[in-house]
Amino acid sequence: MKILVLNCGSSSFKYQLIDMDNEKVLAKGTYERIGEGNSFLTHKVNGEKYVLENPVDSHKDAIDFALKQLTNPEYKVIDSLDEISAVGHRIVHGGEKFNKSVLIDDEVIKAIKECIPLAPLHNPAGLLGIEACQKEIPGVKMVAVFDTAFHQTMKKEQYIYPLPYEYYEKYGVRKYGFHGTSHMYVSRRVAEMMGEDIKNLRIINCHLGQGASLCAIKYGESYDTTMGLTPLGGIPMCTRCGDLDPSIVTFLMKNENMTADEVEKVLNKKSGVLGISGVSPDFRDVEAEKSNGNERACLAIENYNYNVAGFISKFAMAMDGVDVITFTAGIGENQIKIRKGICEHLKFLGVEIDDEANNVRSEERLISTKNSKVKVYIVPTNEELMIARDTKELISK
Ligand code: ADP
Repeated sequence: MKILVLNCGSSSFKYQLIDMDNEKVLAKGTYERIGEGNSFLTHKVNGEKYVLENPVDSHKDAIDFALKQLTNPEYKVIDSLDEISAVGHRIVHGGEKFNKSVLIDDEVIKAIKECIPLAPLHNPAGLLGIEACQKEIPGVKMVAVFDTAFHQTMKKEQYIYPLPYEYYEKYGVRKYGFHGTSHMYVSRRVAEMMGEDIKNLRIINCHLGQGASLCAIKYGESYDTTMGLTPLGGIPMCTRCGDLDPSIVTFLMKNENMTADEVEKVLNKKSGVLGISGVSPDFRDVEAEKSNGNERACLAIENYNYNVAGFISKFAMAMDGVDVITFTAGIGENQIKIRKGICEHLKFLGVEIDDEANNVRSEERLISTKNSKVKVYIVPTNEELMIARDTKELISK
């Protein structure tokens, strides 16, 4: 059974075609700059990379072009689109309506539309992907996999904000959490690697990518997470601020004469590690500058490590302890010094990193010492595989 996984952004989309008989990726790619006049597709098959320039104005045309490459005899991926059994769509926001993946029908599409106010940039892109598939491969079953669904197990005292209750009732203002697919995948995978039942483990997963969040996974379920109403909250990120004293927003509006949109842009695009360091949103650049003695680069990294470790400590409290800490996504998988720097703050929990084991990138591995009271692992995330597995399960029912 072959499943196509689609992850649509506002001007881009990523896809993977996965053979579910052996969970092998047959082809994958990214279409970038849709509607910007210079769009192109990067199509990867068997480790070979093909960059295909093809300006398109819509997701529909982009998806149409990508599907043509899957059947293009030059790349030998599939002979016909009939071989695609189903499509799994990554949808960012499922609000309170979805606590698991679902088969897409008109009702589901309507519900995804109703969640647009909660994710005005992301959900419309997901819907464009669904519509494009309805036109290009009509009749093929589709499944929606939500970033928020995994966190629907949080208790009300964990997700409610201390604001007038009417805003929760009127607008659904509460903590939702994101990266659920990654948190679910990594927690299950680490339990497998340890040969333990996930129902016996308290795991804190650190998904540290451009967008970053931590999740406390207690006995297999999301117990708490750092992102909130939107993916801006929680730990500082490459360009996003994470949690702040909320009066900073009104302070900036008054003192810098900014509109709400302008403040939102500063908090999303110009803050975090980029904001403090003034160097770059990319940790590789900021670390290089730190090594050159750049004080602000050093400050940005110290602040990042301190805040991540702070949330790990809070989540250890929340679960009455922690058995495993996992690192995943671009920074979590690759930044050796960041993992070490975060764990330096966690000695009080009995966390001890094995420097030699930690000296690795993007590999499944135990990186804590034998004596460490908490096990620490690197587990490369695989959201696409998780989406494909959910899709297979739902269409097979
Ligand atoms: P996204 O949230 O967009 O999926 P990623 O998970 O790819 O982001 O993370 C991007 C960040 O990961 C970059 O800013 C960079 O700092 C870091 N990163 C990615 N690849 C590497 C690498 N090979 N070595 C070191 N750092 C990396």
